[in-house]
Amino acid sequence: MCYDPDMIMITDDRGKILFVSSSFESISGFSPEELYGRNADEFIHAEDLGQCRKILKELIHKPSDMPLFEFRVRHKEKQWVRLEAWVADFRRNPAVKGIMLHIRNVADRKESQSRLRRHAFFDVLTELPGKKIFLDRVSQAVERMRRIKDYRYALLFLDLDRFRIVSEGLGHIAGDEAIRIVASLLSAFLGKSDTMCRLERDEFLILLDAVGDEESVVRIAKDIQGLFSEPIHVDGCDIFISASIGIAYGSPEYRAAYQIVRDAETALCRAKTEGKGNYRVFDSKMQEQAVKRLTFETDLRNALNRKEFVLHYQPVIDLESNCLVGLEALVRWRHPRKGLIPPMEFIPLAEETGLIVPLGIWVLEEACFRIAEYIRNLPPDIPFSLCVNISVRQFLQGDLIAEIRRITKESGINPARLKLEVTESIMMDNTRTILSALENLKNMGICLAIDDFGSGYSSLSYLHQFPFDTLKIDRSFVSQMGMADDKNSKIIQTIMLLASHLKMDVIAEGIETRFQIERLKALKCPCGQGFYLSRPMEAEEIRQFFSSQKAFSDPIDFNEKADCIRGQ
Ligand code: C2E
Ligand code: MG
Ligand code: MG
Repeated sequence: MCYDPDMIMITDDRGKILFVSSSFESISGFSPEELYGRNADEFIHAEDLGQCRKILKELIHKPSDMPLFEFRVRHKEKQWVRLEAWVADFRRNPAVKGIMLHIRNVADRKESQSRLRRHAFFDVLTELPGKKIFLDRVSQAVERMRRIKDYRYALLFLDLDRFRIVSEGLGHIAGDEAIRIVASLLSAFLGKSDTMCRLERDEFLILLDAVGDEESVVRIAKDIQGLFSEPIHVDGCDIFISASIGIAYGSPEYRAAYQIVRDAETALCRAKTEGKGNYRVFDSKMQEQAVKRLTFETDLRNALNRKEFVLHYQPVIDLESNCLVGLEALVRWRHPRKGLIPPMEFIPLAEETGLIVPLGIWVLEEACFRIAEYIRNLPPDIPFSLCVNISVRQFLQGDLIAEIRRITKESGINPARLKLEVTESIMMDNTRTILSALENLKNMGICLAIDDFGSGYSSLSYLHQFPFDTLKIDRSFVSQMGMADDKNSKIIQTIMLLASHLKMDVIAEGIETRFQIERLKALKCPCGQGFYLSRPMEAEEIRQFFSSQKAFSDPIDFNEKADCIRGQ
């Protein structure tokens, strides 16, 4: 059977023809030169035009789609030719830079459809088999293991560590290139009978066919991680990549492909919690923990409706005058069975599941409404800030700015009294979106603090671009003060110097001893927070404190309050 050759047309996002393969002439009668620069609409049948435009519009909104559709084009001799095309958005691909139509004459429909389907079943970026083909192979392995006594297989779930940051730093096109390089390194390493597919942007599934014992699978996983010991070269840069791997070893108990994929993913999650570049082999305990986690997640989802969260408030003290200059709102979960759960045990899960968005709004509402009432009579010249922690995810999802505007308005709190605390990682994530959100907040008069400074991936080069008013020195520096060569005092001094250059004020976190407070005073650190000064307190205690305080500017006598503020 003889087919018309495949035809390629590339247009811009409005349909202007940028390229057409010469084979198009045999079907349309127009030479490429006659078509360049003209709009494809001119040649499409009026009845098909609406559909074509709709498909193009949808594609632009969802570039991962590759719709297949049929339409008629006018031949130079005026007759209509029926074509079908698979269309894909390659505007970001430097080799294409446009919308690509892979066109065939409908007369060749049968052959055409199987070819086009092949494309849909393959990953365009890496040319690896698509998910469907991969899962078919896993199903075959699952079946084979139940039939053939000595047959063994394993599944690896591989995820590149912090790839989003790499990709955002490099731009998406170079990010794509990095993925392609990773895919080809992996393909070159794997055996002929192994199969691999890409699941999400930087996640790969690998089916190791006919493997030996568990140890040999672990060796393979380690060798795969070893592939990334050298940097990869992308767009003139050397990029260091590391991969975390979850391993599930085939067992006759698996009845379906999704079960082993699920277990490999559970093992991957475990590997990731232990840091970058780790691997973990799935075991049944992990499944138990995964089920526990799921229950915890369901409880967490219900906790908001059941009003199980409470806020405690930790005072921020001016170290020179001993006066209260702020309160930090800290959330706790009053679990019906487990009691009071500290934030570090549920905030990460809330962030992962997106629940942090409604939870964060609740925290803001609760803190602003309550504290606004307590400080209603506070003279404007007395410094006081209500500090609220905000997760990066809250900036990227939902409409944080509009919510804060609403909450400050409805609660009546002066926006200048509200200070939002974000951690250093905010400077590494989606910088543009976040910077503009932070600037909006600043324009509303809200103060911004960088929390736990020095504990994470500091990027000092970014710090000056961000409109922070306050820098909170991480507890780890304060707690180590006075040890050995007292290096930490020097670090604190250096951080204070940096803050003063950037016109930011400083709060030292986690002050636990008299020695530390004396030392910080000697270093002229302006403000502090910590168990030595006061533990986080319940709202009622804060209310009593405010109502008993004769003047807001009264110093707090820590010796007198020693029992209630220390070690309680
Ligand atoms: P953070 O914002 O750095 O808050 C300070 C944490 O240090 C609090 O822990 C506080 O109780 C603890 N702390 C204060 N002074 C001392 C001290 O002298 N020694 C020691 N060892 N610890 C001290 P907490 O309440 O468990 O909160 C932990 C973290 O959870 C917070 O760290 C913050 O990152 C996060 N978090 C708390 N509430 C929220 C919230 O509403 N939203 C978000 N997104 N995160 C929150
Ligand atoms: Mg904080
Ligand atoms: Mg902190």
